[in-house]
Amino acid sequence: MSEALKRYKEIITECNNLSHAQNTIYWDMETIMPKEGFKGHSDSLTYLSTEVFKKTTSDEFYEILKTLNTKEEFEKLSDIDKYCVKEDLKDIEKDRRVPADFFESFVRVQNEAGVAWQDAKKANDFSIFAPHLKKMIDMTKQMVKYQYPDKDPYDALLDQYEEGMTREAYDKIFNELKEGLVPLIKKIVACGKKENPKFNDTFSIQAEKETEKLLLNYIGFSFDKGTTGETEHPFTMEFSSKDVRVSNHFSEDDVTDPMFSAIHEGGHAIFEQNVSEELDGTTAGSCKYLGLHESQSRFYENILGRNKNFWIPIYEKIQEIEPKLKAISLDEFYEKINFVKNSFIRTAADEVTYCLHIIVRFELEKEIFLNNVDVDLLPKLWNEKMQEYLGITPSCPAEGILQDMHWSDGSFGYFPTYLLGTIYDGMYLEKITEELGDIDVILKEGRILEITKWLNEKIHKYGSSRKPKEVIAAVCGKEVSAQPILKYFNEKYSKIYNI
Ligand code: ZN
Repeated sequence: MSEALKRYKEIITECNNLSHAQNTIYWDMETIMPKEGFKGHSDSLTYLSTEVFKKTTSDEFYEILKTLNTKEEFEKLSDIDKYCVKEDLKDIEKDRRVPADFFESFVRVQNEAGVAWQDAKKANDFSIFAPHLKKMIDMTKQMVKYQYPDKDPYDALLDQYEEGMTREAYDKIFNELKEGLVPLIKKIVACGKKENPKFNDTFSIQAEKETEKLLLNYIGFSFDKGTTGETEHPFTMEFSSKDVRVSNHFSEDDVTDPMFSAIHEGGHAIFEQNVSEELDGTTAGSCKYLGLHESQSRFYENILGRNKNFWIPIYEKIQEIEPKLKAISLDEFYEKINFVKNSFIRTAADEVTYCLHIIVRFELEKEIFLNNVDVDLLPKLWNEKMQEYLGITPSCPAEGILQDMHWSDGSFGYFPTYLLGTIYDGMYLEKITEELGDIDVILKEGRILEITKWLNEKIHKYGSSRKPKEVIAAVCGKEVSAQPILKYFNEKYSKIYNI
């Protein structure tokens, strides 16, 4: 091993150790920390992240990466090291183009905007957030100009969250989807179906926790390589493929929501638990492509979890855990988890209207980045888009533009990955049906782990080492298209709603 490669690996190991400590603190803060413990933990976190930042942007690290990238050295590297060196070099060059004082003020504006967003949401008043959002938009535009001087800013942002994606590519598949979905949703809503009042009850939190364990085990989450915790907002955290944690939010008033959060986060976690061991601790060791990641969580949550056959082998067991569910038949349960209605809040939306919530955000982001729209006009534009696509107008900003935190920290370009994941899912479904057979039958017979194994082999084990376009080409053998997911929506919902 060359000196440069040896030193490269040492620095990566040092950073991994620091990140490991960072993750442990973060998990602790989110799950079990007493309220007054905040300061000590956040000081440690700031210290550790600064250390990692210093190491990964240092002159030494940059010189090593340049050396490893010379023809002579590069050819001697293993395939994994080649991938990591290329990616790390790209990242460091991008980061080093940002002046340090600009970076510092970016982080400060980000923090202030986060607080203002929370205050604005609580007060239901957009004017509290507006000046901060304006600043955040300007700073984000400036940031991408530094990072990617040759790229269109919005394309650069989209690419940052899902490598290879551009506005044009999103436009194409989202338009395809929109054209098919808007009429379908109109037909569904016109049925005038009512929600089942049996779900307006209180349920046992203990039972919800037990059900979470059952579901995670059932879909293939390994408790030898992972654990669970309780937080306000569910998330997945990965230390290495040997320790991947999921959190959930439990509520007496909602018996199905924690189930679907468990399956969703479980999908993210199964991905990370099954990344090939040899990638552990490397840049490729965790999937950094958000569309690809989301395609896994949403595949489990929606394509599998909202299929009636998923529940056939386990519904009675869940009824034993929560006896109140004995009064609810599997058919009623199935209708409930696929109840479609036009609603205001993205995170509470069903799988069909959810797509339009993302399209609304994508179209507003285009207004922001391509047309430099006045921030004060955004709430009105938001409401108009909601009316256009979902036929409803939010009565206040908390129900509309203030609901998500993403824009407060400058995560523009992030939302589209959620829907891209769903579009990939339609393509996987088509391929699984071709290679493993009818998923209704597989699920009904309780053979869901065969699907997990298929995903492990085709997608998970590669971590980040295969880029999204390569994954889709290798797994599905064609370009990204919205047609398969549209077919799934049309077939499924015309049966449920008899249309
Ligand atoms: Zn997710």
